[in-house]
Amino acid sequence: MIGTKTKGEIDLMRQAGRVVGQTIEEVSRYIKPGITSGELDKIGEEFIRSRGMIPAFKGLYGFPGSICISFNEEVVHGIPGDRVLKEGDIISLDVGATYKGWNADGAATFGVGKISEEAERLLKVTREATYIGIDQMRLGHYLYDISNAIHDYVEKQRYSIVTQYVGHGIGRKVHEEPQVPNFRQPVRGMQLKKGMCLAVEPMVNVGGPETVVQPDEWTVVTKDGTLSCHWEHSAAITDGDPLILTLP
Ligand code: MG
Repeated sequence: MIGTKTKGEIDLMRQAGRVVGQTIEEVSRYIKPGITSGELDKIGEEFIRSRGMIPAFKGLYGFPGSICISFNEEVVHGIPGDRVLKEGDIISLDVGATYKGWNADGAATFGVGKISEEAERLLKVTREATYIGIDQMRLGHYLYDISNAIHDYVEKQRYSIVTQYVGHGIGRKVHEEPQVPNFRQPVRGMQLKKGMCLAVEPMVNVGGPETVVQPDEWTVVTKDGTLSCHWEHSAAITDGDPLILTLP
């Protein structure tokens, strides 16, 4: 069952989403060689709580951190800890916030100091793929319009898209129906309705699309060890343009 949200509910999700965007912005200010991902996590958690909200990922399915922080070949679900950021790393910050029982979920990837040209391009393509997908969130469109637009774009840029993890509906729960794949779909899926809220989150790899989970049972890495990038916004379908909920 796919729940559409009322205007009041979307307003609450927008408030949660604004804090998600602000948290990513705030934490990104501290990204520099020498800091640990655990320190970034603490900064993020304190920021979310200072706004009267709850870090949505803390304890979600047992996740130990507040923010998922993934380095280089890590795709998603990196656990913050003692790892020290080094010049040339790329790291993604995946942040969720809960406000009055409503959730928002967003992510972005940043370079640590100077990064390679390839890494710069990967960040740009992944960010653009996210907005290209969200732009398909319009009345009368189908779920596969989002998936196909993202995949077509990423493939044209000669990168691969992860298929083992997908975007999702969002609302009272962080992960709701429907799944929002980032790769081409053979069937159109459900038609998009006003008030549906979706988290669109392409994961883009420089090499092949395959991923494996590390022994910590959380961290997803590329199978071939090549760089991976993640971007995400939660957005609502309206009568007109999609409303991005996770902008600061
Ligand atoms: Mg998500």
